[in-house]
Amino acid sequence: MVGIVKFNMAKLSGKAACQLAKYGPGSGGTYPGHVFTKIGGQESIPKLADDLKLGSVLITGTNGKTTTTTLLIKLMSKDIQIRRSYENNILNSIVTALLSQKGDLGIFEYGIRDLSHGIPDTVQKLINPIGVVYTTISQEHTQVAGVKNPFEDYYKAKKLLSEGMKKGTVVTNCDDPRTALIGLNKQSDVKVNYYGIETDVIEDIGDNSIECPKCGKKLDYSHFYLNHRGVYTCGCGFKRPDANVKLTDIEFGSNSWNLTIEGDLFNYTVSKNIKFNIKLTVPPFGFHNIYNTLASITAYATFTPKVENIETTIKDVFNNLDMSFIPPGRFEVVDIGGKFVGLGQGDNGDALKINAMFMKQFVKDEPLEFIYTTPDENEEEIFEDHYEVVKSMNPAHVIVVPGRRSIEKAEEYYNIIKEDFPDAEFYPLSYDEMKVRIEKLNELARNSEYKYVIMTGCGEEQAMWEEIKKKMISR
Ligand SMILES: [Zn+2]
Repeated sequence: MVGIVKFNMAKLSGKAACQLAKYGPGSGGTYPGHVFTKIGGQESIPKLADDLKLGSVLITGTNGKTTTTTLLIKLMSKDIQIRRSYENNILNSIVTALLSQKGDLGIFEYGIRDLSHGIPDTVQKLINPIGVVYTTISQEHTQVAGVKNPFEDYYKAKKLLSEGMKKGTVVTNCDDPRTALIGLNKQSDVKVNYYGIETDVIEDIGDNSIECPKCGKKLDYSHFYLNHRGVYTCGCGFKRPDANVKLTDIEFGSNSWNLTIEGDLFNYTVSKNIKFNIKLTVPPFGFHNIYNTLASITAYATFTPKVENIETTIKDVFNNLDMSFIPPGRFEVVDIGGKFVGLGQGDNGDALKINAMFMKQFVKDEPLEFIYTTPDENEEEIFEDHYEVVKSMNPAHVIVVPGRRSIEKAEEYYNIIKEDFPDAEFYPLSYDEMKVRIEKLNELARNSEYKYVIMTGCGEEQAMWEEIKKKMISR
């Protein structure tokens, strides 16, 4: 327990730092949290988190965290006042949100890359969340700050965020075997609400099987929805749990999609079971956003205190959705005078595939140019996943550019690509000269002789992709 004097002093100083951060220089994103923790110590954080009458919900996963958080905030803020923060990898940004905002419920995105840089079990203990929401878990950057980060450690870090939970509800994707197992393991401690797809209208091609997260053998799939997400079983007894919130039908139109979603789940806040059945009309936002939609709706219906509003609020938000909910730097297809350029971040194999699928809707069978930005050293696994996607697009021409620091490594990747695409070109653009690089990438896409260009791979989403996008649209 922390002394009340020490706690009050820390809170006052933290709040003062919020004022300073608003008007003065420096980062307002974590500074007040830093001041608070410095004075009060980490042991003061639970008391601060207790200010939230309902508690906190943390959102984590590999892809879709920011979009799911954005959608959840849109839904929940129709019902109650909330405190929020996005794109955090450190505890102090959550502490800052607790200090600087008002509201009864906290909605915090929390991305954990590995065990040495994140402290997921400590965050769980200090924030004591009533909810942890998992999007999906796939192989990401296997290198963090120069250190190789094996996938097992990465997966373990994600598990640790909910492992110590003794109250609340876990919201997780049952089509993803990795997040499903996290849910199954928590069922003896807390309630678990699963979301997933249950319609054959959505089917991914190819064999995307992964190993059973429980026993390590190859899983047996009867259906793939998107990459490794699907309907699976294993000899060890592990199988896909039933979904509490499921997409049961979808109609694809060129200007809009119609989704049918059924829900039967436990609401933690009022402690009772809730059912709903809704039809939504959304923009044609890509398959991955179906999962982000399901994740946000499930989390919302699990934690809102206004259960009588659930159907109307969901309809209100999704029937009025435009594409601006997509975070900066993410993949978009822009029409620059009859030429279609799909561009944005695709840092891992999963994300790149989603971008490629999105682009395919536009390209049909026309020739396409692929401008590929490579991963770094020690990221051969990412390259392998990426390259499968590049080949699956059957590009008429390939351009290779380093997406991260190492130009040498990029050239190695290029040499592999050249074996299959002999007229592929390589532009050794330096990471340090970001402006030159952005200008050149923009020029390559703009002056391409192809009507359809996809430019994606590794690169900082805000510093690089968003800048290129702005340049491309503004001219
Ligand atoms: Zn198994």
